[in-house]
Formats: sequence, C-alpha cells, structure tokens
Amino acid sequence: MKAPALLLLLAVSALGKRLFNGDQVLRVHVEAEEQVQLLLALEDEQVWEVDFWLHPVSVGRPVEVRVGHGSLSGVKDYLQTNNIRFYVMIHNLQELLDEQEAEMKESEWLARGGSNYNFGSYQRLETIYKWMDTLVAEHPKLVTKVLIGTSYEDRPMHVLKFSTGGTNRPAIWIDTGIHSREWVSPATGIWTANKIAMDYGTDASLTSLLNTMDIYMLLLANPDGYSYTHTNDRMWRKTRSRSPGSSCRGADPNRNWDSGFGGPGTSRNPCSDLYHGPSAHSEVEVRNVVNLIKAHGNFKSFISVHAYSQLLMYPHGYTCKDIPDKAELDSVGRAAVKKLASLYGTAYQVGSVCKTIYQASGGSIGWSYDMGIKYSFAFELRDTGLSGFLLPANQIIPTASETWLALKHIMEYVRDNPY
Ligand SMILES: [Zn+2]
Repeated sequence: MKAPALLLLLAVSALGKRLFNGDQVLRVHVEAEEQVQLLLALEDEQVWEVDFWLHPVSVGRPVEVRVGHGSLSGVKDYLQTNNIRFYVMIHNLQELLDEQEAEMKESEWLARGGSNYNFGSYQRLETIYKWMDTLVAEHPKLVTKVLIGTSYEDRPMHVLKFSTGGTNRPAIWIDTGIHSREWVSPATGIWTANKIAMDYGTDASLTSLLNTMDIYMLLLANPDGYSYTHTNDRMWRKTRSRSPGSSCRGADPNRNWDSGFGGPGTSRNPCSDLYHGPSAHSEVEVRNVVNLIKAHGNFKSFISVHAYSQLLMYPHGYTCKDIPDKAELDSVGRAAVKKLASLYGTAYQVGSVCKTIYQASGGSIGWSYDMGIKYSFAFELRDTGLSGFLLPANQIIPTASETWLALKHIMEYVRDNPY
C-alpha cells in the first residue's frame, strides 16, 4: 500500500461526518531544543497526518498531537528513532467522539421533553440561537440582541448586550468560540450570559457594574466553524471561507487581526490550521467585530476565551517585548486566577501570549490592546491535556463557575479603575 496517497482520503460516515477511527492523540515530552525542530518538521513535511493540539514551543512545554491511524506507526517510529518520549493520551479518538455524541443526543432528547436549556451539555448552533432569544425575552430590560453582521456562510452573528441604559457607556467585550473545536469556550459563555442576567439585581457588585457599564458578549464568534464541528468535522478550528487557488478552506480567525499580521506563529499555507488568511481582517467574522468595536469607541476591556491549557494571558503575541501596562495586567491576571482557583483549586498560569504559549501574530487581544483597550486578556480554559478539545460535558458548569470568578474580578477592576 502506498501510504501517502491514502492520506488524502478522509474517512467519512454515511452522514458525511469525518471519522477518526483508530486515530490517537499523543502527549510528547520535549527535552531538548532540537526536538522542537524535529517535531515542527513532522508538520512541515506533510508526509504524515498530524494535527497539533498543542504546538511544539520549547523545552518543558507539553506537545499534543493527533495522529491519523494510517500515520501512527510512521510517526511513532520517527519519535522513537529521535529519542523523543511520548505516551498515548487518547487511544481511539472516534470512540471518545461517539461517547460524547451519544451524550449530546440524550440531552437533546431531554430538551425536547420540555425541560429548559441544559447548560451542562454541548449544544448545536440552532439550539444556542434559540436560547439567546429566550434570554432576551425573559430579561427585556437588561438584555438585547445586536446583529453585527453575517458570517461567510450567511449565518447571523448576534451579540448579547447587557445594558441598564445610558448612551455609549464604557463597555466590556467578551467573545467565545472563535476557534470552533474549543467547545467549552462557548458553553462557558452561555452559562456566563445566563449568570449575568440572573444575578443582576441580587448581586450588589454586578449590579453596580451594570449601572455604569455595558457588557457585550459574542457567544459564537465563528458560527460557520462551530456548525461544521457538529455536522462534518469535530476537529475543525478555522473559518469556512474559500481561498483563491486552493482547495483548502478557512483561515485561523485568531491569526487574522491587524496586529503583526503574517508574522511569526502563522502560516501562509491555506491548508494549515494557522493560516492567517489573504490579508488582515479578510475574514468577515473578524471584520464584523472590528467594525462594532471601532464604531462604539468606548470599550475598556476586551476578553477572548479559548481552550485549552489553563492560562490567562495579556498582550503581546506578535512580539515578546513587554507592553507598557505589563505590571498592571499581570497583577490583575494573578488576582483573577487566584479567585478562579478558590472554587476547585484549578491552577492557571499568567503571562503574555508570547511568553506563555509562543509567538503568535495577528491575534485579537493584540489588536484590541493596540487600539487602546488596555484591559485585554485571553483565557485558555480547562484542561491541561487529559481530554484536550474533548473536555467531558460534566466539566462545563464547574469550568464556567470558576471562570466566572476570574471574569468578575477583571470586570470589577475595570469598573474601579477608569481611564
Ligand atoms: Zn483557540
């Protein structure tokens, strides 16, 4: 059998869903600098089917990679030959996906049976959009739905605006789901939006915040990608736009911002998961946010929520040079993760994107910071690599509950430190 030719054929189910039968996720220990290069070469050579869940960065930082079943023996040989240690984190990815899908079906069935939205389950885009209408209907004096545009595939992009009045009040931005396979991010956003609506009027601190500031939440920042992870490919990360001259689709919407666009930590290859797109803000999903933020002009905080790795980061990503507000953002971040840890002991690291993960250009919080939005942060939620992108649904509410303590700390700080 000629292995490389087989790599081009992706297995799909009768429903057109991509299958991952026999695919494994490996956790790799990087013990020497040259091993970073050897791992990067694995991706560049495009001989094997590899999808880095955590990219090789430096000695000591974990690397996690999904390997297609047809490439397993080749990749494992390569690692062993180069004395790179690894263990199998997920033995058969499809088995895990089947389990989670069965769980979701059960939750849909329960929902049809008349119970309310299930915050402890991953939901499809249509269900989330319906729930947003319910939230607005139940809290008409606090929550409105603002249409900021449509996606590449014409899905509406709604922002939930929490406001008690006033005109153009200082505001806080929170987006979730910009990378579509990071499901716990929008699930956390949904729980959070509900929490804000429920606690207004009873939680004194949140109430005082909303009496002077607005909160904007974009729960599905990449609606086409999110939908695609449910219908076709659970591991899809990017948008779904077409690139001229390539059969590969989508750009990485967190490499597409006008902030060091096209620099280190991005790819010019449309088939790469880190493809930055043809130009800054080429992705309409990014452009819709940019237009809203610019037109509003009074955002004081910009928070983007990803998964996974348990990190709270501030700019910059495109350079490792410290930003002028580093000391302040670092101490706000440290206090926020201390609150987060107070609930279940979940440990987070704090630092700049560049120094915490790796140099990554064209990211949203770099753009917002350079726009003058000082309190710009990015979260990477649970976990640190037991389940990766497939965090079990029973961890959604614990994740959202602990993250809320950190979000609330940041928002209160922004309220108390006007600039
Ligand atoms: Zn992400």
